[in-house]
Amino acid sequence: MVDPFLLLILSSPSGAGKTTLTRKLQERFPALRFSVSHTTRSPRANEVDGKDYHFVDRKSFDDLVEKDAFVEWAHVHENCYGTSRAEIDRARAERGCSGMIFDVDYQGARQIRAKQPDAVAVFILPPSMTELERRLRGRASESDEVVRRRFAAAQIEIEHYGFFDYLVVNDDIEGAFKHLEGIVLAERSRRFRRADLAERLLRGGKL
Ligand code: ADP
Ligand code: 5GP
Repeated sequence: MVDPFLLLILSSPSGAGKTTLTRKLQERFPALRFSVSHTTRSPRANEVDGKDYHFVDRKSFDDLVEKDAFVEWAHVHENCYGTSRAEIDRARAERGCSGMIFDVDYQGARQIRAKQPDAVAVFILPPSMTELERRLRGRASESDEVVRRRFAAAQIEIEHYGFFDYLVVNDDIEGAFKHLEGIVLAERSRRFRRADLAERLLRGGKL
C-alpha cells in the first residue's frame, strides 16, 4: 500500500529547531523528500551546496524570479530564499516519494498554501524567548549582529502563528519529534487522502 502524497510545511523563528527536527523526520520517513531551497545567504561551515540549499548570488536568484521558477520566494533576514517549482514537480514524479518537507518562513508558508491548498502547515515554538536566544547563540554559526537581528525578528514571526494548522513546542527534542511524527501519521489518514482505499475495497479490490 502506497502512502498518500503529503506537503508538510515547517516554520519557526530562527533557532527554534526546524532543521534539527526536519533531519529526524527524514530518518523516520525516508520517503519524505526535503525541499532544497535557493538562497542568496552564504553557506554556514557545515552546510553543503545542493543538500542544505542551492547557494546562488543575487543576480542568479533574480533571473530565476524573472523566469517564474519559484513556487514562492521571500526576503528573510536580509537575504532571498525561494522554493523552485522543479523541486515539487520532481518529487511528484518520483516513484517511492511520499511527499515533501518545506523549511520556509511564514511568508513562504502562505504562498505555498495559496497554490497547494492541501499542504499542512506546522509552526515550531521555542519553550521561551530566553531559550530561543540561547539556541541561536549556541549554534555559533552567525555573527553577534546576525543573531541579534534574527532574535529581534522572532517576535514578528511568532505573531503569525494564526495561519498554521499545528503548533509544536520544541522543549525536549524527542517530545517535539513525537508530536511531528503524530501529525504526519494523522494527516496521512485524512479521509480525502485515503478515500481511494475505501473505493477500491467497494469495487472488490484489495488494499
Ligand atoms: P532552526 O533550523 O529553526 O534555525 P536549528 O535546528 O538549527 O534551528 O536549532 C538551533 C540550535 O538549537 C541548534 O544548535 C540545535 O542543535 C539546538 N536545538 C534544537 N532543538 C533543541 C532542543 N529541543 N533542545 C536544545 N537544543 C536544541
Ligand atoms: P536560515 O538562514 O536559518 O537557513 O533560514 C532563515 C529563514 O529562512 C528560516 O525561517 C527558513 O525557514 C527560511 N527559509 C528557508 N528556505 C526558504 C524558502 O525557500 N522560502 C522562504 N520563504 N523561506 C525560507
